Amino acid sequence: MNTHGKNIIGNNLSAMGTSSFNAYDVASNSLLPTKFYEATTTEINAAISLAAEAFGEYKNKTGKEKAAFLECIATEIEALEMELIETASKETGLPLARITGERGRTTGQLRLFASQLTEGSWVNAIIDNALPERKPLPRVDLRQMQIAIGPVAVFGASNFPLAFSVAGGDTVSALAAGCTVVFKAHPAHPATCELVGAAIIRAAKKCNMPEGVFSMVHGISHQVGHALVTHPLIKAVGFTGSLKGGKALYDAAVKRESPIPVYAEMSSVNPVVFLPEILTQKAGDLAEAFAGSIVMGGGQFCTNPGIFLLLKNESSTNFIQLLTAALTAKPSVALLTNGITDAYYQGITHQRNTEGAIGLTAFDANTPQPHLLQIDAQMLISNPSLTEEVFGPSSVAIIAKDMDELIECILHLKGQLTASLHGTADELKNAGVLVDLLQEKAGRLCINAFPTGVEVGNAMVHGGPYPATSDSRTTSVGTQAIYRFTRPFCYQEFPDHLLPDALKESNPLQISRLVNGIRL
Ligand code: NAP
Repeated sequence: MNTHGKNIIGNNLSAMGTSSFNAYDVASNSLLPTKFYEATTTEINAAISLAAEAFGEYKNKTGKEKAAFLECIATEIEALEMELIETASKETGLPLARITGERGRTTGQLRLFASQLTEGSWVNAIIDNALPERKPLPRVDLRQMQIAIGPVAVFGASNFPLAFSVAGGDTVSALAAGCTVVFKAHPAHPATCELVGAAIIRAAKKCNMPEGVFSMVHGISHQVGHALVTHPLIKAVGFTGSLKGGKALYDAAVKRESPIPVYAEMSSVNPVVFLPEILTQKAGDLAEAFAGSIVMGGGQFCTNPGIFLLLKNESSTNFIQLLTAALTAKPSVALLTNGITDAYYQGITHQRNTEGAIGLTAFDANTPQPHLLQIDAQMLISNPSLTEEVFGPSSVAIIAKDMDELIECILHLKGQLTASLHGTADELKNAGVLVDLLQEKAGRLCINAFPTGVEVGNAMVHGGPYPATSDSRTTSVGTQAIYRFTRPFCYQEFPDHLLPDALKESNPLQISRLVNGIRL
């Protein structure tokens, strides 16, 4: 199936619109030939209607059938071989090796969710058997489990063309939950999107999934995204991208006649706190490792450490000098899009123009070089804009005169995906207050480690208080992401044959369940 810039509406291709755009070759700074057709309202409505029809059948597929579908998607993605790697690299400017690694993460993620479905206990089955003899009132038979929420609209980000895109974490967790998906292709990597979208359709056909289990629409204007989240048949939204985009879509969704949950994973500056003694002992190693974390992926990671806090003393002065040298030695990189490049220059210019801020590395508004800025703690406290994400390879050193001032800075921070704390074993023994405060601010706290590099597993939390996400109760990475697209449902006084297998008395799926308050 070569989609040639068309929208994937169920099992059909469609290009009814007149608005079109081209993909971009980042390295040669030129347009690529294929035209992509923005979806019309008719096409968007058709994709959503199919998703709603397919939901009735798809949600009732067994865990093993859905697992086979996810595994088949992974196999189809691998079968795209170098065509996928080269296309994604061309559209994003990210090196082939990085895209190859991201493909492994994406297929690994699909297989991880497949194993979660095959095992089956994720549905959180809870059984309270009837107690007819209970006094003063008998208890009825009640059984609960998680069920799929409905058709989901998914938006991917430009910086992860595979792992946070068409078959990325949001799509796979929604499909695993039993939801059908309408995906909004990212205009920064539309050809990559269409290769993966077609792979999902091939897998759906091979696994006998209903038409409409997955559709994908293109769009360069915001109307496409708004039409998706405001459509009455869409029951939840998964979004990864900018704060501006996520907030706009969240606001649109909550204003609907029937509001729906929006899981928007947005911006974060991932503060890193360095305690003094560790800087005395390991300044060189830490400066090298921290510089590597700042520039990883061109700094275009949601977990990029955009600010760090230290106490004013000799060890921090030495560390900052070493870090400045390490960052200066790093090459500049082409950022993902012209929009991101312009935003990077504007962000750095704003930081450097702030009275009292010291630019430690060179700045050239034509080359996206790694950048380091230094400010005093009081500047952060009085000017919160200095803690906003500047997407790219930059970080801001915040110098506090003492621990009270450093703590005051932490209190002024907004919600974050991650926070990190570096200290010696002795320093960490007395770090309870810092740990408590950082925990209030973030979804993940790293001790003597940097936040970049997000493991896809069962225990990962990739989430956090606003504006890191629109809902701090969840994660967008790892198997727990499935619960964003489910809701609890209670079966009262059901005869056994009408119950789903997960709740039948004989436990035919052999899953772990909470029966009358006891975990079995
Ligand atoms: P983006 O510009 O917000 O784009 C994401 C998607 O949302 C695109 O499809 C975009 O379509 C759409 N969109 C954006 N604004 C919209 C609006 N007002 N109305 C309707 N649709 C809208 O984000 P990006 O530049 O691709 O990604 C970079 C950002 O993502 C960074 O801030 C990064 O930190 C964040 N990110 C976060 C995570 C996380 O897990 N928290 C992971 C990766 C990236 P159009 O392009 O057509 O506008």
